[in-house]
Amino acid sequence: MSPECPRCHSPHIKMLNYGKNIGGMIGAMGSFLFCLQTGTPRSLLIAAPVEALPVLLRHMAIGYAVGAAVGNVIDTEIFDSCKCLTCGHSFSPASTNRL
Ligand SMILES: [Zn+2]
Repeated sequence: MSPECPRCHSPHIKMLNYGKNIGGMIGAMGSFLFCLQTGTPRSLLIAAPVEALPVLLRHMAIGYAVGAAVGNVIDTEIFDSCKCLTCGHSFSPASTNRL
């Protein structure tokens, strides 16, 4: 169910998803750095870069998913991550659920 504007009740809402995007980036970077620290992909990267790339990408995808999930919670609970396209009002999706 998409949220509606608490001010004008317009269904035309844009999700900003700052937390989700930033969380995903941090998660992907974190898992990339973790991969380099753990050594297995690093030795793979030197020995067989073509085989190592999918391993790195898979770890980064998992990291992104975890980070995005955390960021999504932050978006919902903390940030005003919804913007009404009709009146320009910014609000949190959690605030509309409580009304
Ligand atoms: Zn509105």
